[in-house]
Amino acid sequence: MSINLLDMDGEGLAAFVASLDEKPFRARQLKRWMHRLGESDFSRMSDIAKPLREKLARTACVSPPRIVSDSLARDGTRKWLLDVGKGNAVDAVFIPETNRGTLCISTQAGCTLACQFCSTGRQGFNRNLSVSEIIGQLWLANRELGATRGGERVISNVVLMGMGEPLLNFDNTVAALKLMIDQDAYGLSRRRVTLSTSGIVPMIDRLAAECPVALAVSLHAPNDALRDTLMPINRKYPLAELLAACLRYLERAPRDFITFEYVMLEGVNDAEEHARQLVDLVSRVPCKINLIPFNPFPNSGFVRSPRRVIERFSEVLGASGIVTTTRKTRGDEIDAACGQLAGKIHDRTRRPARLEGTGP
Ligand code: SAH
Ligand code: SF4
Repeated sequence: MSINLLDMDGEGLAAFVASLDEKPFRARQLKRWMHRLGESDFSRMSDIAKPLREKLARTACVSPPRIVSDSLARDGTRKWLLDVGKGNAVDAVFIPETNRGTLCISTQAGCTLACQFCSTGRQGFNRNLSVSEIIGQLWLANRELGATRGGERVISNVVLMGMGEPLLNFDNTVAALKLMIDQDAYGLSRRRVTLSTSGIVPMIDRLAAECPVALAVSLHAPNDALRDTLMPINRKYPLAELLAACLRYLERAPRDFITFEYVMLEGVNDAEEHARQLVDLVSRVPCKINLIPFNPFPNSGFVRSPRRVIERFSEVLGASGIVTTTRKTRGDEIDAACGQLAGKIHDRTRRPARLEGTGP
């Protein structure tokens, strides 16, 4: 069986090259060919000595996941469904904007955390993605968008906001993050790579130590009672612990604020009183708040807050000095928006009955 070099971060490649008795600079050459130039054919890696190219062709491969489907929305949002084996698939979404292009990638097939308002969470968990499946999303998107054929690099930002909880697939996610910011690979600035988490407190500390990138935290409720019902993970890591972890993270973070995400669910968490509680809750944490209009999916049991309600909520936050943005919904007709990514997961978990069915 050949070794997939897309499964290796810089250190892994260095060890692999050493195991072939090759000089360390070969690892850097390989990284540039594979990640920067998107090359998967060793015979075309022209500055690598021919005997090594031949050895690589016999023992290794550069193998991203297979694209199952490719859909393009009217607003330019593009979604790829990627085969991750055994009938499972995950999504990667490219969102073009005026001054930047953002790729939203997945880290798990499904998710164990069962947030009530999330389509991924509702479908259960299958498995962690490998490094090649995570970084392969960026590799493929670059290729599909023409960036590796001499075109401009259109992906300026990466957000880990697709399917899954990145901090529960920590090692593979961090290996992929390291490639994203590696000058010889994708060369993205740490500030332009954002990891979104539901709040796995100990792993937030590990991320700070091992690969601090911009951090987004899914809050969605301003008090523990409500957050417990929407996001079961809150029972394990309640708000006080989560906010303390955010403060610790900022000591190492590449940005001087945390982005708090807050999905707007009509009649659930969108009252002015919730906004006031939210102001108090985050008062000690330098932050921005990103309001996300709920994206519906079948049988969700939730409704998106009306625009006026979202505006009012935003005004209350803004009046207290918190920079607040409302996320634009993109790629509606191809189900590419936050929380709608469903991939195709063969659920192997047995879900607790109380988490089934419609909303709280
Ligand atoms: N597991 C991570 C990252 C993936 S979800 C996390 O939860 O942060 C990315 C963002 O989309 C999170 O803020 C998540 O709460 C939000 N989201 C999930 N379902 C949604 C929905 N139906 N509509 C709008 N946002 C949703
Ligand atoms: Fe998992 Fe994030 Fe969805 Fe919650 S919102 S179920 S953590 S993917």
